[in-house]
Amino acid sequence: MSDSPQLDLSIVIPVYNEELNLPTLFTRLYPVLDALGRRYEVIFTNDGSADRSLALLREQHARRPDVTRVIDFNANYGQHMAIMAAFERVRGAVIVTLDADLQNPPEEIPKLLEKIDAGHDYVGGFRLHRQDSFFRKYASRLINYVREKTTSIEMTDQGCMLRAYSRQIIDAIVRSGAINTFIPALAYSFSGNPAEVGVKHEERHAGVSNYSFYGLVRLNFDLITGFSLAPLQYFTMFAGLSSLGSLALVVLLLIRRFAFNLDRETFGVFTLFAILFFLLSVAMIGIGLIGEYVGRTYQVVRARQRYFVREMLETSGKVEG
Ligand code: UDP
Ligand code: MG
Repeated sequence: MSDSPQLDLSIVIPVYNEELNLPTLFTRLYPVLDALGRRYEVIFTNDGSADRSLALLREQHARRPDVTRVIDFNANYGQHMAIMAAFERVRGAVIVTLDADLQNPPEEIPKLLEKIDAGHDYVGGFRLHRQDSFFRKYASRLINYVREKTTSIEMTDQGCMLRAYSRQIIDAIVRSGAINTFIPALAYSFSGNPAEVGVKHEERHAGVSNYSFYGLVRLNFDLITGFSLAPLQYFTMFAGLSSLGSLALVVLLLIRRFAFNLDRETFGVFTLFAILFFLLSVAMIGIGLIGEYVGRTYQVVRARQRYFVREMLETSGKVEG
């Protein structure tokens, strides 16, 4: 990874059950790349697909062995791990990530490269006329807002995976060895000169999104806890304010009871229960949050191998370890 780049461009594509999209992706992507006149490679990571994706990738590797490399995971480790594995092996000076489902048209790649050539080290795509479900669109607007408020990452569209990076940034990402990381955000934090371009967005060519509602919640939770301690700090502030509030309430009740001789029957049990339940729920949120950070620390400390490559298909270059 740290040797100097041998190629101009590496395209990185994670693939999970994309048998219906791969043939079209191949026929649209390669001509765009051939027309660039740059020395390039395409790295596909088969992320434990259960369909014919691997077989199709093998065929493509046989057709274009000079420019195609395939990393085959033994199981499904998720989109970001699939991208990381490719990052660890890239040979290009510029790296472009792309989804396999053709939501990001390969024809837009030259636009990103123009910005890189103009001297930017990070070019994020943002989706013009986003073609996703109503729910996805609004959920991601909300999460964009939360991210903006809690982290210092400025990004028009965090969910767009059509992005270009300079090699230095990719090397920094690989060195940081982050787990559960959100690659565009991490890259942004390393970038000295970021830019954005609008890119077309199409409906998923075929098949359905691999993200369940739960998957999206996890991803965004990772994004926020992975890049800032703000949730923890907000929690502490909230806990501080609410204990002040409950203290004030207790004082108020005491004054009513003893200075004005009110509330003689109800004073006590109910009020205390209410306060107790409230504090208990605050404590539970806190424990959950602390658990999140402790869990992250544990994952890093444990340093377990993050993914397992069953096979590497490549014809040129070094032998993989
Ligand atoms: N993907 C992957 N592993 C997974 C889920 C998805 O490699 O566990 C790939 C998938 O093949 C696609 C990209 O990540 O190339 C984006 O996935 P998807 O289109 O399902 O996500 P969405 O566009 O709905 O955010
Ligand atoms: Mg998609």
